[in-house]
Amino acid sequence: MTIRKLLLAALAAAVAAAFLVSSFDPAFAANYYADQTNFEETSVPVARYHWSEDIIDSCIYKDENVPNKYYAWAKLAAQQWRQALREYTDNQQAWELTARYVSSQSELRSCDVRVFIFDSYMDFPDYPSQTGAYTSVKFDEGSEGEIDANVYLSPFILHGDGETEIDLPSYAFRNSAVHELGHVLGLGHMQSARGYLMSPQFDFWEEDDQLSITTLELEALVSVYGNDGFD
Ligand SMILES: [Zn+2]
Repeated sequence: MTIRKLLLAALAAAVAAAFLVSSFDPAFAANYYADQTNFEETSVPVARYHWSEDIIDSCIYKDENVPNKYYAWAKLAAQQWRQALREYTDNQQAWELTARYVSSQSELRSCDVRVFIFDSYMDFPDYPSQTGAYTSVKFDEGSEGEIDANVYLSPFILHGDGETEIDLPSYAFRNSAVHELGHVLGLGHMQSARGYLMSPQFDFWEEDDQLSITTLELEALVSVYGNDGFD
């Protein structure tokens, strides 16, 4: 083959590849959630509260010494839920869950959801009974009233064994941020201790990546809210 023919062949291959990419149907390109793969359980328990507003405004406060990437990951966790719900329900206008940075704890007062990222689990308001990421939600039973949601995260936590202190690998921190926001939106815990996004534990020695939001969690939220958002 001459060089000219080789070039033409390469060009033809490139054109074919470009065509393949552009003819890929975006409707099948779910980016923010995956199909359920573990079928030991078929539903996610839901909480007794649910939101009824157009926009859930979440604010993220972090201690001065916590690197910015942890803030970014908490914000991404909120975006992940929003986009997953939008993709799953094919409703790009709804599910407005915002996440923004606030530089002081006093600015958190007006927010629907307050996310705190502390230097250490020892700074958690419920330490020592809480030594890993957790969410506290207060609500008026039976009223459409206020939900008071607080999420506590830290890159530095105590392992479930009660004695090993751990600098969380990034995927484990990100996993806990997505998990806690799942609670905020109204999801409870799975019965299986591990293996689901909403399992009470995440084994970061066995897992090497964060767990996806799946159709299982999205189905549970749609059963609570319907297809058209949090209101
Ligand atoms: Zn949990």
